[in-house]
Amino acid sequence: MTKINDGRDGWRGFEGRKFLTDAEHTVYCRRLPVRYAAKSAGPKPEACGVCGGPATPGNPLQAAHRIPFNTGIIQYRLTPDWLDRSENLVWAHRQVCNKNVEFSVEQIEATVGARDSSCVS
Ligand SMILES: [Zn+2]
Repeated sequence: MTKINDGRDGWRGFEGRKFLTDAEHTVYCRRLPVRYAAKSAGPKPEACGVCGGPATPGNPLQAAHRIPFNTGIIQYRLTPDWLDRSENLVWAHRQVCNKNVEFSVEQIEATVGARDSSCVS
């Protein structure tokens, strides 16, 4: 597993945890955390991981999340570090291919368990 913020700027990270604490989840319901996907996705390849085509100026490759970042935080209480690990990322075209990387609800729940929260209380 790639460490994303290995002590940078005094960050403590999530000690390798997969799930947020109640307090952390409450804070992220107020404002979502920053993504660091591109730092942990590995070197950017020449070709898209979905269609195999090259990047173009109008449709560059970006690190796309299999379990969508915001959904993972809010609905499944996953830590930003867990969502930004390389196993959850694919280099894909920003348009169309990025969306095709995303897991279905069934695939997400097979990976992390049933959704158990939202920010509505
Ligand atoms: Zn593509």
